[in-house]
Amino acid sequence: MDATERIEKLKTEALSAVAGAGSTAELEDVRVKYLGRSAELTNTKKSIGRLPAEQRREVGRAANLATREIEEALSEHAARLTAAEREARLKAEAVDITLPGTPYPKGHLHPTQRVIDEVVDFFVGLGYRVAEGPEVETDYYNFTALNIPPGHPARMMQATFFLDDGLVLRTHTSPVQVRTMLAQEPPVYVIVPGRVYRRDSDPTHTPMFNQIEGLAVDRGLSLAHLKGTLAAMARSFFGEKTKTRFRPSYFQFTEPSVEMDVSCFVCGGSDPNCKVCKGAGWLEMLGAGMVDPAVLEEVGYDPEEYTGFAFGMGPDRMAMVRYGIPDLRLFFEGDLRFLRQF
Ligand SMILES: [Zn+2]
Repeated sequence: MDATERIEKLKTEALSAVAGAGSTAELEDVRVKYLGRSAELTNTKKSIGRLPAEQRREVGRAANLATREIEEALSEHAARLTAAEREARLKAEAVDITLPGTPYPKGHLHPTQRVIDEVVDFFVGLGYRVAEGPEVETDYYNFTALNIPPGHPARMMQATFFLDDGLVLRTHTSPVQVRTMLAQEPPVYVIVPGRVYRRDSDPTHTPMFNQIEGLAVDRGLSLAHLKGTLAAMARSFFGEKTKTRFRPSYFQFTEPSVEMDVSCFVCGGSDPNCKVCKGAGWLEMLGAGMVDPAVLEEVGYDPEEYTGFAFGMGPDRMAMVRYGIPDLRLFFEGDLRFLRQF
């Protein structure tokens, strides 16, 4: 077999190997085998110079033609394989957008948060503004400015978490009333939800609990405004038929002070065995009163010109009553089995 015949045979072999390659990787092996640096065809081309002069031209031409033909076949087949491989990959990686997504568990509003939202929404509807303040308070805002002087029982170690440097964990949200009044001129209409802290722990007391306070200061506000506002809130919260009654009480920073009871929203007072009101027909709901003139004076308001009323309630306790929960501590344990019931 002379050189040109050998070249022709290599070419035929190579073309059939190209056609048989099933992947781009196999195709690369074929290229290395027939056109690579140590391929027979490559060596033939390198050694053309050693051939007798009359053969060089013919062998050189055949080798170049064969190389070009193999290269063309390689590149055509490579294009076909690449397209097929891309299609296969797209098919394999395709996302079915009609499949349902991964469901994430939905959270719940905490029962206390529901009560807070409802009460705050009611007062915002009346034009009150939401005000908030720090949970770490100074002695001044938590006590002194609220007419609770040094030595008052409310300051006892048993009731208050004292921190260093005259700071306390606020025992009520009332400091926010003082901060609000110091920051603005009357009229003031604010509703103040927030966490407060006292050294207490039993089924109806926890060291941290929630309060909602409200404060209104304006010209001509009287106890009648206080009663009307809070009775409307009670009807909004417990239902239109809810009755309210006010009992005299005592708070350091209001004078006069009252406590408001609401008629039992379960039995309305008609069931002596009612589990919610224990037959009393009434439920304690909140404390309130006319802002003590001493407090108004402390923040620079003229008590001759302005009067105000303030009220405070415990949304945790309100949630206990509404949802029939016997132990306040359940609210703060974060047990999902408990929370999912609401
Ligand atoms: Zn009842």
